[in-house]
Amino acid sequence: MAQLLDAFGRPLRDLRISVTDRCNFRCTYCMPKEAFGHAYRFLERKELLDFEEITRIARAAVGLGVRKLRLTGGEPLLRKDIERLIEMLSGLDAELTLTTNASLLPRKAQALRDAGLSRITVSLDAMDDATFRAMNDVDFPVERVLEGIAAARAAGLPLKVNCVVRRGVNEDQIVPLARYFREHGDTLRFIEFMDVGTTNGWRMDEVVPAAEIVATLSAAFPLEPAQAQYRGEVAKRWRYLDGGGEIGIIASVSAPFCGDCTRSRISAEGVLYTCLFAARGHDLRALVRGGADDAGLAARLNEIWRLRADRYSELRAQATASGPAKVEMSYIGG
Ligand code: SAM
Repeated sequence: MAQLLDAFGRPLRDLRISVTDRCNFRCTYCMPKEAFGHAYRFLERKELLDFEEITRIARAAVGLGVRKLRLTGGEPLLRKDIERLIEMLSGLDAELTLTTNASLLPRKAQALRDAGLSRITVSLDAMDDATFRAMNDVDFPVERVLEGIAAARAAGLPLKVNCVVRRGVNEDQIVPLARYFREHGDTLRFIEFMDVGTTNGWRMDEVVPAAEIVATLSAAFPLEPAQAQYRGEVAKRWRYLDGGGEIGIIASVSAPFCGDCTRSRISAEGVLYTCLFAARGHDLRALVRGGADDAGLAARLNEIWRLRADRYSELRAQATASGPAKVEMSYIGG
């Protein structure tokens, strides 16, 4: 079968699956309390795709070229019996990963590994406890995230740590995070603060550009660039000159990588988005619940991908000022 390519010749390789829109953190840049408080209407259980529906969609996507499945949210470990979904998805021919705030990892890491999870990504934005508690805005201590990370390591889960850098909030944490994860041998990646959704009040001057992150790091631990490992690798990799491992930087604002974007995302209620910054998606739940068979589902995915022409980040300057409301990060996952 000919490779499925979108309107700009990009293959479909990654599917990110949000399994819940709920989270136990209220990170100020993602789910600010003012927008996601008591009055906010989260999805009800019957609105969520069930595990069979998720697995059917994932299987169809793998048939069209997807090689990596990532579970996300909201906080994916809040979804009841997530291990069972992992077990179901682990039968597919794709790498299976999960992004988490690590709060529930101390009790779940081993079960996730046993169910067939290949790798895990933990989000951690500060080493300083006061800074971290203020950023998650539920007073969650950094120590418990580090316990979660230790549990993932003990369970044998290969691990990456992601940090979003927001100017005036945590750029002073770049070096402490690098120091800690160098010492522990884990890959750390810094992510530029992105204009996802509309509730976080994003402003360009809050983005700490990749070049500045590298300069800050290099002053403490000299770095040299490392080669990309595969097409579509979004993190630019840098190696410590003293052999202390590597870091990655995801420069989605200062150096957009739309040209290599092979990702699609599905919300917890089954809406497929072909761009993180999309305002509109495609309702797969209606299709699945409407009785579409596997061939019909694959044909629809094929059609959506072939027509895909998104390149939001490259057009950011114009789009941010005038575009329609975009989906929230907590709805679609990272
Ligand atoms: N709850 C899980 C977690 O904490 O990793 C998964 C979902 S969370 C939405 C996924 C990632 O998106 C987190 O690493 C978070 O820091 C990141 N994120 C949220 N809003 C962002 C933004 N505006 N710019 C860059 N990254 C963002």
